[in-house]
Amino acid sequence: MKLSIGHLYPELFNLYGDRGNVRCLLKRLQWRGIEAEVIPLAAGEKVDFNGLDILCWGGGSDRGQEMAAGYLKEIRKDFKAYVEEDGVVLAVCAAYQLLGNYYRTEKKTIEGLGILDICTQWKPGRLVGNAVLESPLFSTPVVGFENHGGRTEIGDHTPLGRVLFGHGNTGNSGYEGLVYKNLFATYLHGPLLPKNPEVCDGLLERALKRKYGKEIELEPLSDIPEYRANRNIVERYTTPGSRHI
Ligand code: GLN
Repeated sequence: MKLSIGHLYPELFNLYGDRGNVRCLLKRLQWRGIEAEVIPLAAGEKVDFNGLDILCWGGGSDRGQEMAAGYLKEIRKDFKAYVEEDGVVLAVCAAYQLLGNYYRTEKKTIEGLGILDICTQWKPGRLVGNAVLESPLFSTPVVGFENHGGRTEIGDHTPLGRVLFGHGNTGNSGYEGLVYKNLFATYLHGPLLPKNPEVCDGLLERALKRKYGKEIELEPLSDIPEYRANRNIVERYTTPGSRHI
């Protein structure tokens, strides 16, 4: 077995160590003796979506998003086909916004890929801080760190989770991120996957299933430090009486 992990525009989208998501996917495959490769996909390059099993796309500044918009037009058609054919995607923050119709900043409108029917509007007052979600997809709460000026309206899409602590998609909808087929979009950095091994393995299992046409159960890992990190955030931000809430 072998999985290919694409890292989209790593030079423009790597806020708060989002590259760590790629490392985490790779490492958790290697620890189980499953072969894996990382393919950096530079802006302007042709992207062969047929050769990818997972695509990681991280957070970035408004400026980075504006720079990427032109390159994205070139890959839009193939990217959409990959998503519709159940390709696995992890999109964080700026990437999440660019999968939608547009991101309207204070000064201009950045056109998105329109793969998801969602819209993002900048508003004053950044939504910053640790976040904790409860997701029907995972038994453990999902934790991360968010910092965004954009507010994303997800319409009829299914959210990734309900906000137990933090801001989420708009600051007041009560929901965070979204899941569409095998695409997970979220505002959560951290990086996300090292603190949420269940999310990481969920993406890996989806990718293996798509590639090999059957459920492949991943060998369990001990994950003691991972769950300790996760638990620490959950307890700090959701325990009544905690000085953080
Ligand atoms: N530039 C976008 C915003 O501020 C995304 C930021 C990010 O990726 N953290 O909303």
